Amino acid sequence: MNPSSFAALALSPPMLSNLDALGYREMTSIQAQSLPVILQLRDLIAQAKTGSGKTAAFGIGMLQKLNPTWFAIQGLVICPTRELADQVSNELRRLARFADNIKILTLCGGAPMRPQIASLEHGAHIVVGTPGRLRDHISRNTINLSTVQTLVLDEADRMVDMGFYEEIAGIVSACPERRQTLLFSATYPDDIRKASAEFLRDPVEVKVEAQH
Ligand code: ADP
Ligand code: MG
Repeated sequence: MNPSSFAALALSPPMLSNLDALGYREMTSIQAQSLPVILQLRDLIAQAKTGSGKTAAFGIGMLQKLNPTWFAIQGLVICPTRELADQVSNELRRLARFADNIKILTLCGGAPMRPQIASLEHGAHIVVGTPGRLRDHISRNTINLSTVQTLVLDEADRMVDMGFYEEIAGIVSACPERRQTLLFSATYPDDIRKASAEFLRDPVEVKVEAQH
């Protein structure tokens, strides 16, 4: 079997057929390097550029772990901007098409609070949000992150550049200590090393130079 085929991984048949339907035939480099680690439930720090297919790398892992019959926030993805959060939510919804009952909620600033609070009361399996708005929900007690199993810090270097380190630390501490944490970053400056040491447990490091 082609080692870069998704079929080389221990994915569920519905997940594999959905990837096929999406036209995802081969894993990108970051997916081939990180998915085996993610599926072993290890923490991960991955250095990869934009457009390398990071969303499917963490999304497939998160969705394979998820229990659809447990209506609680099991996956949390923190993104630097509203635009990126929307992109991640859209990609996760495509990846989640193999199941018809996985609820993904996007929580970003600039949108009114009240409908977000109503959506949170209704519930979600996965939340994708920006640091400031997630912090606001935590401080108002309108979000319960104690059920998070997988935490993703997407484009972590951008979030640190935007001054969100403390917000991220606050969000991480609202999650349970026993969780899987995946950190994605295009660069690896000191702040990201610090974040890795502070938020990840014995992480595997992977780095992808080329786009694919
Ligand atoms: P990144 O977050 O690394 O910038 P994305 O996760 O947004 O990249 O993926 C970039 C594009 O590649 C998306 O349009 C996505 O649908 C597509 N893609 C991801 N993985 C694969 C794959 N294995 N095969 C084909 N297309 C893919
Ligand atoms: Mg991305």
